[in-house]
Amino acid sequence: MKTPTLPPSKLPEVGTTIFTTMSALASEHGALNVAQGFPDLSPPTNLKEAVKRAIDEGYNQYAPMAGDPGLRAWISEMYIQAHGAFYNADSEITIGAGASSLLFAAIQALVFPGDEVIIVDPAYDLYAPAVHLAGGVIARAALPQPPNLGGPGGAIDPEVIRNLMSDKTKLVIINAPHNPTGACFTSEGLNELADVLSESNCFLFSDEVYGPMNHDGRPFLSAAGHPGLKNRTLVFGSFGKLLHATGWKIGWVTAPEEITRELRKIHQYDVFSTGAPIQRGLAQYLITDDASKHLRELGPIYEKKRDRLLKGLEGTAFIFSPAEGGYFQILDYSKLDSRGDIEVAREWTIKHGIATIPISPFRKRGSQEAKAEKRLRICFAKGDSTIDEAIEKLRAIDMYYKSR
Ligand code: PMP
Ligand code: GLN
Repeated sequence: MKTPTLPPSKLPEVGTTIFTTMSALASEHGALNVAQGFPDLSPPTNLKEAVKRAIDEGYNQYAPMAGDPGLRAWISEMYIQAHGAFYNADSEITIGAGASSLLFAAIQALVFPGDEVIIVDPAYDLYAPAVHLAGGVIARAALPQPPNLGGPGGAIDPEVIRNLMSDKTKLVIINAPHNPTGACFTSEGLNELADVLSESNCFLFSDEVYGPMNHDGRPFLSAAGHPGLKNRTLVFGSFGKLLHATGWKIGWVTAPEEITRELRKIHQYDVFSTGAPIQRGLAQYLITDDASKHLRELGPIYEKKRDRLLKGLEGTAFIFSPAEGGYFQILDYSKLDSRGDIEVAREWTIKHGIATIPISPFRKRGSQEAKAEKRLRICFAKGDSTIDEAIEKLRAIDMYYKSR
């Protein structure tokens, strides 16, 4: 019997994601997992009840392709309230299997072979492979160097983007609160970006899955709320992040009608629709006071957790500046170890019992920047006891190096 010969890989540079790799290594070695970004907090009890109720009430068949109408109505209202931005719930909002599926569908819908796509650097690992599959070419706009991230543009450096723009640039992808650095948007950054894009033919994706988790009084800014950006922008959100339920994989995208029409052509053949009872439960829960309170407190709760972690690391040789938003903290270990971040992250998991995420996989593979990385990402979306355990292990690592 003949077996088919494997064709060349469509993604020759891609292996298993660093998140899956580090979670597997953590479980193999019984290490504390502050690597992959997921909370160990429970979703709100009333939300869990609403989802269970939706199952009992019979919401067990396909949800509408664009998403549960009640949930889209809530998203529409949220953008009006939070950002003064109107999106038509029927024609400008689409729900998918996490923000991931919609980022992927939107890239396939808009990027053609030879198009250039500018992403910030470091960047979430999904964008580049999705662009490659569409035949697009990636250009990377470096963020200011660590540990003090965030120049005046915050999570965007508009000047660097301006210099990378060409006739071929089809799309710019920004992300804030930024994974992995925690940088946020600033009004200045968004204004300048609007200026840079104003004469171009370029779409903007704003990956805002960490939503309102802005710390130290920073405002909750969205590209949706910028009149100079909204008409060219697709904004991505994720209920997994907002409600401690990353495993439910329900996300959304807002986009002008004609773009929505195109991206739904892909979405309908890719996921079609997702998690009907979860969407219904979310729609029923989100309109309650309990949900408003949860969303209001989300940023402050994570800020406290960040502070707990950083206070615990005072006096160690780790270099850091507090994450501006989101639930990740970057630690620079260069005073302790001169080796690359992947090697160090692996060794600390196996030898010191703590799994973290190296930053180089968020950069271009094999680049100078990737090779020079001496930083690790810690997820602090954890119960206090997990954070305390992380502190204990990191302090022990600090002592270990100092006593050698
Ligand atoms: N964008 C960023 C920046 C992320 O960190 C994640 C995390 N998973 C996603 C998109 C994907 O979100 P989801 O889990 O809703 O697919
Ligand atoms: N977004 C999560 C993180 O940054 C991981 C999601 C995944 O594992 N694909 O850790």
